[in-house]
Amino acid sequence: MSRVLVLGAGGFIGSHLVKRLKSEGHWVRGVDLKNPRYAASPADEFLIADLRIYDNVVKALEGGFDEVYQLAADMGGAGFVFTGEHDADIMHNSAQINIHVLDVARKNTIGRIFYSSSACMYPEHNQLDPDNPKCNEASAYPAAPDSEYGWEKLFSERLYFAYARNYGMTVRVARYHNIFGPEGSWHDGREKAPAALCRKVAMTSETGVIEMWGDGKQTRSFLYVDECVEATLRLMRSDFAGPVNIGSEEMVSINQFAEMIMAIAGKKLGVKHIPGPTGVRGRNSDNHLIREKLGWAPSLPLDLGLRKTYAWIAEQVAKGAQDSE
Ligand code: NAD
Repeated sequence: MSRVLVLGAGGFIGSHLVKRLKSEGHWVRGVDLKNPRYAASPADEFLIADLRIYDNVVKALEGGFDEVYQLAADMGGAGFVFTGEHDADIMHNSAQINIHVLDVARKNTIGRIFYSSSACMYPEHNQLDPDNPKCNEASAYPAAPDSEYGWEKLFSERLYFAYARNYGMTVRVARYHNIFGPEGSWHDGREKAPAALCRKVAMTSETGVIEMWGDGKQTRSFLYVDECVEATLRLMRSDFAGPVNIGSEEMVSINQFAEMIMAIAGKKLGVKHIPGPTGVRGRNSDNHLIREKLGWAPSLPLDLGLRKTYAWIAEQVAKGAQDSE
């Protein structure tokens, strides 16, 4: 049994990670500004703490850990990170968390530390063609992310590797590509495209119309959260430090993606394209490196992950409708 710390344990991926770690029998401390919203955390200890405050990070890391997973970030979907309205907070809050965590970690007994970077750090100029986006790990430089969120991720992943070089820390860095699944944000302004589209389809009656930001020709791939957790654990426990993509290579346009959700829901809805923040024109994970280094590839087709996610969001929508009756 290892002692494991999950920072950001109240969030979407963090809460799924804690469940998985507990199922493996580890002792787990979770830390977040908030408890998970949809299910009680099975963590052995859960600290509600703001990790921008240095003393809270000291408390969070107290006792030493075999594994630390750092997922806490000020983050959200396109409606949160691509409007420009939250840029200063996103950069300041997330950078401050990472700066504190690394400084405290190097003074403590920490086996390994994992950091969740993002595909948003890849240069925009390689993601202009929706049919041929380029997101292999080596394409990161010269850097030109299209959001401040991406710039902070790039800074922080470099910070983790600098601590590894200068202080001998054992660091692992993954670049997550769009992760989706149940028990994540779906209607609080931080939801990402899969949850937002599932919600719109679930809330619209059989003959209705849903709104979609942009022309829907932009492409993305989506990885189911359990697969993300599996790949994260494999990376953490391997000899490979990264940075490495953790994502799916099953690329679809957002129009196709909406069609898949409608087929699952058994609804044939109209789509009204409206202006909105959409991010890069094309993005897909490139999994050559992770296949080579960890022998990992996603095993769940997008359609199956989407069925689980849609079922959960439709249930939330139905509950919400009942509560407001
Ligand atoms: P999330 O927003 O659900 O989880 C992040 C958690 O961090 C939240 O629960 C939040 O309360 C917590 N947090 C924020 N500021 C904090 C603070 N000052 N102190 C303590 N806790 C704080 O997001 P997620 O989807 O679970 O993402 C987890 C990590 O993975 C993040 O670093 C994110 O940037 C990265 N990532 C996620 C995706 C994705 O598709 N979900 C893609 C790329 C990268």
